This record gives sequence, structure tokens and C-alpha cells, in this order.
Amino acid sequence: MAVDKKPQKEVKITLNGVEFVVPPGGKVKDAAAAAGIEIPALKVDQSTCKGCQMCTKVCETGAISGNKKEPHAIDQEKCVRCGECLAKCKTGSIVPA
Ligand code: SF4
Ligand code: SF4
Repeated sequence: MAVDKKPQKEVKITLNGVEFVVPPGGKVKDAAAAAGIEIPALKVDQSTCKGCQMCTKVCETGAISGNKKEPHAIDQEKCVRCGECLAKCKTGSIVPA
């Protein structure tokens, strides 16, 4: 069975003041589009990122880098704005750039 990297629980995300819900197994980009939101360029808030690396595990383009327990960063050249990292970050450290 293939490894499913998508969130298995409903996840609430707030972007630019608009909240939307990603259903279990759903794509962040699709849920955002249904709410009328386009995923913007994203960055990591260096002051709140715990370096847990949950976001790096779901980023299929390898756009997020950083050492464990240290603030991470998003490479804008590699990011395709899928938004999947938003669903994984428990500290809300991934924010519009
Ligand atoms: S939006 Fe997608 S491609 Fe960009 S950093 Fe997040 S998971 Fe990676
Ligand atoms: S999931 Fe959030 S707290 Fe964890 S490394 Fe990524 S940006 Fe930092």
C-alpha cells in the first residue's frame, strides 16, 4: 500500500483572514480554491518555527529546508504553492511571504 502523505483528519487553515477546511485525504489547494483562495507565496516565520520537520515530509518539491530543531526556510524557486505544508505545521509558522 502506498504511503499516504495527505492529512487524515480534517484540518482548518486560515490564510489572509479566511478560514477553510481541508477534508481527510483532501488537497489543500483544492480546499482553498473551493473557499475562493489561491495559495500565495509562503515563508516560514523564523520566530515560531520549532524545526519539527513535519512540513519537509509533505513537500514534494523539496522546497523546505533546515536542520532539526532549528527554523526552516522555503525556497521560492522550488515551491509550487500546493499548500500542503500549511496543513502540517502545528505552530502556524508557515505564512504568506
Ligand atoms: S506550498 Fe507545497 S511546494 Fe511550497 S513549500 Fe509548501 S509543501 Fe512545498
Ligand atoms: S512544520 Fe512548522 S514548526 Fe515544523 S519545521 Fe515546518 S514550519 Fe517549522
